Amino acid sequence: MIKTRILQGKKVAEAIKSDTSEKIRELKKSGLIPGLAAILVGENPASKVYVGSKTRTCQELEMHSKTFELSSETTTEELLQVIDQLNNTDEIDGILVQLPLPDHIDEKTVLQSVRPDKDVDGFHPENVGKLCSGEIGLAPCTPLGIIDLLKREDIPIKGAETVVVGRSNIVGKPIALLLLHNHATVTLCHSRTRDLAAVCRRADILVAAIGRPAFITREFIKEGAVIIDVGINRIETVEEGIRLFGEQSERIERIKKRGSTLVGDVHPQDPLGVASAVTPVPGGVGLLTIAQLMKNTVNACLMRRTPKTTN
Ligand code: NDP
Repeated sequence: MIKTRILQGKKVAEAIKSDTSEKIRELKKSGLIPGLAAILVGENPASKVYVGSKTRTCQELEMHSKTFELSSETTTEELLQVIDQLNNTDEIDGILVQLPLPDHIDEKTVLQSVRPDKDVDGFHPENVGKLCSGEIGLAPCTPLGIIDLLKREDIPIKGAETVVVGRSNIVGKPIALLLLHNHATVTLCHSRTRDLAAVCRRADILVAAIGRPAFITREFIKEGAVIIDVGINRIETVEEGIRLFGEQSERIERIKKRGSTLVGDVHPQDPLGVASAVTPVPGGVGLLTIAQLMKNTVNACLMRRTPKTTN
């Protein structure tokens, strides 16, 4: 039986923040303070929590941060005006529009209105094109964080057989491209993939970004594989908790006390003893995303305000 390493996102997130903090100190010597603006539209509680932790991390790193909390009645035009103002504010290096937006807002037009050199989420078509062709630009944070984790944990990517489950623009497609640029052999799977378990069993590195609790079970995992679990799903019943974590787990108490607990797209117990390494949920990939957002903002500052430097 293999001893499975639990890859701690916190440790890697701290390392990313520490490197970023070093760059901020250097920038401050030239009188530059990187700045991030976050725009929140409406009352989505999860979005409020995410924006809150992004703002706190900016403060922790002594970066400039600005949060715009707009009412759920805000129109596309009004939102575009706020973005236009931020596009033209020199002190703002990164603009983040928290998703999801209310249904009446034209999300595509909004995301395309962010200046590509301030698009720290990497959603603008110009940045998507750069990512595709392997040019330096701004790429989505979660996939960048995953590559950083693999490198810092000395997990070889070059030549590795990698399988990504999920083809979203935010996670699946960009992580597949980044793995490819790092010389992995990449298979990108989705809901129409035939015999998904057999395809996943080919993987030395398996990335799950599906949005279905504990979907990846033992039969998807090759012995010795590294499992990266991107999923963040909430389960709310004790029965489901017992099925996934066992009766003795502290997660059962958590569901009873708080009404829910988080589970990834990978079964929390099945990789143990089979995979060589796995990211936990919570405490894995989720923590990397915010750290990487800070890194992207500092890189955006470096690229736009000190044009001779590259990240
Ligand atoms: P999306 O809903 O945009 O995409 C889900 C993908 O999974 C789709 O490509 C879909 O395929 C595929 N899929 C769904 N069901 C199946 C199935 N039965 N078999 C194979 N593939 C399937 O999700 P996101 O990429 O935005 O997010 C994925 C997960 O990652 C979510 O749990 C989300 O909360 C989490 N997440 C975590 C982040 C973090 O910081 N840790 C950041 C972003 C997301 P198809 O295209 O065919 O429909």
